[in-house]
Amino acid sequence: MVVDEAHKIKKYIQLHEEWRGQTLNMIASENITSSAVNMAVASGLSHKYAEGWPNARFYQGCKYFDEVELTGNSLFYKLFDAQYVDLRPISGTNANMALFFGLAEQGDTLMALHTSHGGHISHTNFGSAGIRGLNVVTFPFDEKEMNIDSDKMVKAIIEQKPKIILFGASLFLFPHPLKDAIDAAEEVGAVIAYDGAHVLGLIAGKQFQSPLFEGAKAITGSTHKTFPGPQGGILITRNMDDDLLAKTQWGIFPGVLSNHHLHHVAGKAIAAAEMLNFGEDYAKQIVKNAQALAQALTEEGLTVLCEHKGFTKSHQVVLDVGKNGGGKWVAETLEHANIISNKNLLPWDPIEQSDNPSGLRIGVAELTRLGMKGQEMRDVAQFYRQAIIDKKDVRAVAADVSSFKKEYVTIHYGYDWNDL
Ligand SMILES: *Cc1c(COP(=O)(O)O)cnc(C)c1O
Repeated sequence: MVVDEAHKIKKYIQLHEEWRGQTLNMIASENITSSAVNMAVASGLSHKYAEGWPNARFYQGCKYFDEVELTGNSLFYKLFDAQYVDLRPISGTNANMALFFGLAEQGDTLMALHTSHGGHISHTNFGSAGIRGLNVVTFPFDEKEMNIDSDKMVKAIIEQKPKIILFGASLFLFPHPLKDAIDAAEEVGAVIAYDGAHVLGLIAGKQFQSPLFEGAKAITGSTHKTFPGPQGGILITRNMDDDLLAKTQWGIFPGVLSNHHLHHVAGKAIAAAEMLNFGEDYAKQIVKNAQALAQALTEEGLTVLCEHKGFTKSHQVVLDVGKNGGGKWVAETLEHANIISNKNLLPWDPIEQSDNPSGLRIGVAELTRLGMKGQEMRDVAQFYRQAIIDKKDVRAVAADVSSFKKEYVTIHYGYDWNDL
């Protein structure tokens, strides 16, 4: 007998996948995984317990999974030239919480970016940092350069004496000035860390910055944004004092989780193998595509931030659509046209305007993995113009987008499960 509600779930998953296939997914925090990663995540590892460490578990039955986790760790050591890697965090936020636990005590100060300058909610008083009891101060920010103001940052570090200086952001166009913070950090006894959630794949592909070699002792991140793995988190360290590392490990287990998600560890490991093999080409193409898309959108009449600096050095392109109907209308209109993106606060937007900010944030990771290059970026920019500026019937644009999308079904820079 068919269980109706379960059938409904199956149906909605199918509808979702079918629709996703017809759309251009340009959410900057998303990506598309290879069939090898998909199969790892769909495996029976999804319902197994393995609390603890490889070969030192609290549960029996882990001998094969131990090999998965150990292999995964060694792939990530290679990829990031790291000294310690932890694949257990189940999300980037989860990794940040463990880091806050390891590097600071309640009442200590965290310096991070304000949310309207691109900071993540886990860096705020109302998010994970607040739950850990940290006092959050924000980096001075240069709105024109869309980056941290280095000179003012140095003064702020000396004055505010943070325990953790956390670089990295969700709205992230240009590498952050870690090196400029090193002396001040040393003076006040702060640890520099880097939230690489968005740009982990670009770092792994050596196309953005190398935080562990620019002063950061730890990178936290998500494994599913530019890094083409399943949803999850990661912690990577280098030159971290043993006691801080031990405390951070404790922060992960038993601090913010008991069991980790074993099927996702397997998926992360396969994605790391893919990145060791194809990562540089993939990351190079992402940055090229983002710059080509920004240029093409500008030529189509849209306002892209930071033209004076070549628009972007990451996977992201940020538009000011304040004069085009606002972020809410633009994101919804694009969705009707089968282009999936998200509205975003820009630095000059009042925070009360979060429901209708003036920005639109887009990313090109998924389009890049589907094999798109410069010409396709120009084609995509035309769809944006038709929907946003020409206000062409969105159903017509949607139909054109889905027929355009039909050509792009193969996932590049990744493994097919059947070939492994
Ligand atoms: C996305 C993001 C995270 C974590 O996100 P999860 O959904 O918890 O993986 C953390 N920091 C930044 C800067 C992010 O953009």
